[in-house]
Amino acid sequence: MLVVMKHGATSNDVEGVVRAIETMGYGARPMPGEQRTTVGLVGNDGRVDEGRLVGLTGVLRVIHVSQPYKQVSREWCEENTVVELDNGVRIGGGDLVVMAGPCAVESREQILETARRVAAAGATVLRGGAFKPRTSPYSFQGLGEEGLQLLAEARADTGLAIVTEALDTESVGLVAEYADMVQIGARNMQNYSLLKAVGRAGRPVLLKRGMSATIKELLLAAEYIVAEGERRVVLCERGVRNFDTHARNLLDLTAIVTVHELSHLPIIADPSHGTGARSKVGPMARASVAAGADGVMIEVHPDPAQASSDGAQSLTPAQFDELMVDLEAIARTMGREIARAPAATIAG
Ligand code: PEP
Ligand code: MN
Repeated sequence: MLVVMKHGATSNDVEGVVRAIETMGYGARPMPGEQRTTVGLVGNDGRVDEGRLVGLTGVLRVIHVSQPYKQVSREWCEENTVVELDNGVRIGGGDLVVMAGPCAVESREQILETARRVAAAGATVLRGGAFKPRTSPYSFQGLGEEGLQLLAEARADTGLAIVTEALDTESVGLVAEYADMVQIGARNMQNYSLLKAVGRAGRPVLLKRGMSATIKELLLAAEYIVAEGERRVVLCERGVRNFDTHARNLLDLTAIVTVHELSHLPIIADPSHGTGARSKVGPMARASVAAGADGVMIEVHPDPAQASSDGAQSLTPAQFDELMVDLEAIARTMGREIARAPAATIAG
């Protein structure tokens, strides 16, 4: 960390900064320049509270040299993290992982039919919420544990791994008992007690970007999980708030590239929540693959008009079939394949 002094800062001001740094237990290295002095902070362990320095007399600004997130950064680990699920599918290993399914588990028929259709089309992970984070308390809240049981049945039937959301610290243990990967939704990205709890739950985690979160905040949220000991974290770009109303959210494709630069963790894209409209899901899924996403998550419903949530952004199984053909072609152009699940092949 570098503390840049103002042009007219006095030697007393510089001395004040040096004392403040030393009081916090770090080393201070004043570097006088022609225009201004800069004070380097040595021994930054990521816990430096810059608020104690920015307000001091004569300080112009504080510059971070290394990132505030440590274990999730590329500096920490140059090699890509590959997250393997129980059905053998590997996320971040080069192949394109396709996760698909309804927004919410609604019934046995609905989840089984969707699971069979998406598995036949080449998906390897089934998504579906049993606990739903709805904007309105009067909207469908999910089937709860019954939904988890239905997901487990669909897994046994198809060999798909299941990813489903844990909404709170009370239910994270229950969700982890059923899920192959526990999803932390956009609304909970900065729920730090939940992040800590999921980091101790013993399951891989899918962490979605908050709708107003910066990439730095996303990586710091992931750091919470990794700091608890769970290294199998997959990030998900699902669109951020936008001033334009043509799409529900603005799918930030640069996040895919930026996360790959800054972190060794895999990142997938969710063009369903990222756009909110069926007609936009395919194009944005294709663009996400072209941008290098490690996977995509697509909402698919056997009868979107009857869906209890997010029907407008859900593809029909037939539309999903068509999309898979495109995704495979784009992946191949980039020297990649659609990921297969070894365990699912055996089950099938
Ligand atoms: C979901 O994937 O079911 C969901 C609610 O998405 P998000 O948290 O991105 O809004
Ligand atoms: Mn949804």
